[in-house]
Amino acid sequence: MTVLLISDVHSNLQALEAVLGAEPDVDAVWCLGDIVGYGPNPNECISLLRTQNAVCLAGNHDRAATGDLDTSTFNTDARAACNWTENALSNDSWDFLRSLHPSDSIDGIQLAHGSPRDPIFEYVFNLSIAVLNFDRFDADVCLVGHTHVPLIFTRQHVPDGPPEHATAIPEPNTPFVLKGFRSIVNPGSVGQPRDGDPEAAYMLLDSKNLTVTLKRLAYDVAKTQQLMQQAGLPANLVQRLSHGR
Ligand code: ZN
Repeated sequence: MTVLLISDVHSNLQALEAVLGAEPDVDAVWCLGDIVGYGPNPNECISLLRTQNAVCLAGNHDRAATGDLDTSTFNTDARAACNWTENALSNDSWDFLRSLHPSDSIDGIQLAHGSPRDPIFEYVFNLSIAVLNFDRFDADVCLVGHTHVPLIFTRQHVPDGPPEHATAIPEPNTPFVLKGFRSIVNPGSVGQPRDGDPEAAYMLLDSKNLTVTLKRLAYDVAKTQQLMQQAGLPANLVQRLSHGR
């Protein structure tokens, strides 16, 4: 089975449409949370993922948009976008977001928006945090989002010694073999990449051969930015899409 792994769409319809359009032959779509927040098309992104029967997790921005998470920890721009999103959500979208959970397990693979031990809030952005999380799930593979940076953390069992850990920055279009390791895999962000590359990021999971392949895809950034400006969303959020920051 080939699974399209996406995360942190953040209401960016142009990016989501580009990614889904580029991968029409996948068997399933798994979205690791933060469908909404920051961008101009929350309802359209939710509808599109629902028509794909995508497995969706709840992220912190999804929780905030339905009023279920205190936004005092958000910065000013994120809070402004959250308030905008809360007003823009249809009743249907609101019900859908509230039905989601921040973690799940499918076919023996663990899924969490943030981390296994704190699925809503924790960022697995370095190896020391990854190491602490390997003891908090049983599966060989855990998929996470939330940091907006594509990364793979691995733990390898070593006979008569402590396990060895490593961080891998995945190469686009190059299958990364997960066999022989336990791993925490982040496919990056579709709608607001933060690794310095403005192209949408996602991964393809080959569940039979247990590989993940990072993909980067150009989309119509200018169109998303224009819609954000029209919606009155904060200028910093508009600008950062150009820089992938
Ligand atoms: Zn996010």
